[in-house]
Amino acid sequence: MPFCIKKCPYCDFYSVAKLSLKDGFLSALLTEISLREDPGSAIDTIYFGGGTPSLLTPGEIETILSRIRDHFNLAEGCEITLEVNPGTVGTGYFDEIRLFGVNRLNMGVQSLCDEKLGFMERIHSAKVAEQALLAARTAGFDKLGFDLIFGLPGETETSWRKDLDRALEFHPEHLSCYMLTYEPGTPMHGNLQAGRINPLGDETAAALFRLTSTHLEAHGYLHYEISNFAAGPEHRSRHNRKYWNLVPYLGFGPSAHSFGGNTRSWNHADVRRYAADLDQGVLPVAETENLTREQVLVERVMLGLRTSDGIDIKEFEKVAKRGFMEMFKDIVRECETRSWAGIENHRFILTLEGRLFLDTVTGLFAERIWNR
Ligand code: SF4
Repeated sequence: MPFCIKKCPYCDFYSVAKLSLKDGFLSALLTEISLREDPGSAIDTIYFGGGTPSLLTPGEIETILSRIRDHFNLAEGCEITLEVNPGTVGTGYFDEIRLFGVNRLNMGVQSLCDEKLGFMERIHSAKVAEQALLAARTAGFDKLGFDLIFGLPGETETSWRKDLDRALEFHPEHLSCYMLTYEPGTPMHGNLQAGRINPLGDETAAALFRLTSTHLEAHGYLHYEISNFAAGPEHRSRHNRKYWNLVPYLGFGPSAHSFGGNTRSWNHADVRRYAADLDQGVLPVAETENLTREQVLVERVMLGLRTSDGIDIKEFEKVAKRGFMEMFKDIVRECETRSWAGIENHRFILTLEGRLFLDTVTGLFAERIWNR
């Protein structure tokens, strides 16, 4: 869903604050779903993401879901997630979407502290977020996740723990905790470069990351992906695990990516261009890339290192047609010596300390794959 009420200054996802384009987008989206039909499929997850999907009315969500049902085969118990911006939902919204089949919510809460929300220029206050969380529970949602952002300038372990504790009072089944990043091209990056923002030092950022993991694990959450926590194995995001496990998926909408096992394609990141192509009955694909074996291997490493399942060594060797230790023995030993990682059940898994050096470790593996 490529629309937002206003752009947040740190966000570099494609979305526009032009709701006047919504009707054209919706009709194009329905056409795209029809054109990509696959009645032989067995779809077991649907994720309404990107921009602000809760700007869709319950009726529009019903129309989209029924178009998907007409052209794809939905498996029993399909996980249907909607990303919700708490500042967009009115009374009765959650009851209606639940009726239409949405069974999991992910709320862009970001923080339950007004000062942090103000810095991020979010459209909602802590109170509005809390009301939305309670309304979702009242409507019967028992799979409720939310996003939190930490590492804002001036944030301390004490203030972040307080924010986390407030979040835990709502007993979310899933939590995504992201460190604030300053993405080039965003207004916040501009402020950083102009010296108007004093970012956290590396040591404080690392301490906040460690705190997130230890505090949430102490409350019974599984730290199953670098930024993601689940209240139990059954609450891990079924949908996102497909991305991390390189399972094929289809993406619909402007800038949406699709993955076919050895190919990746993406739609035009321009809502007008997207709608114009579909008006002509043409798929709005900007580019398709055939992945080389090296690219697949790098993706396996990159995604595997992010998760608590780690890199599946046997799967890796099947694709690489070479032994994992033959390729990476020195890197593995180095990581073990530094207590960054270990091998368990044929999986190479980063420790909490190792996760702090995710980019470094990924870089070492990737360089070896490219130069083998
Ligand atoms: S609401 Fe979400 S998608 Fe929209 S601009 Fe803000 S962070 Fe980005």
